[in-house]
Amino acid sequence: MKRTGKCPKCGCTDIIADAKAIDRGHGNSQQEMSVATFRKPEALIFKEKQETTVSAWICSDCGYIEFYADHPTRIKLPK
Ligand SMILES: [Zn+2]
Repeated sequence: MKRTGKCPKCGCTDIIADAKAIDRGHGNSQQEMSVATFRKPEALIFKEKQETTVSAWICSDCGYIEFYADHPTRIKLPK
């Protein structure tokens, strides 16, 4: 959807790009939604968290939403 500019569900091409997903944290504080991976998930403290915010592409016709990581390379794990 981000690259094609077209909704995969209904075929509409009127896409709302780069919308921010708002997460509610402690005390109802707002923060951008993010995703994370851990280089050392088995570690007790230093799990080496890698994080990126996400943005949404939304179909203005049917409302279908696709999420994309803003910086996918940041959360990539070594093979
Ligand atoms: Zn659609």
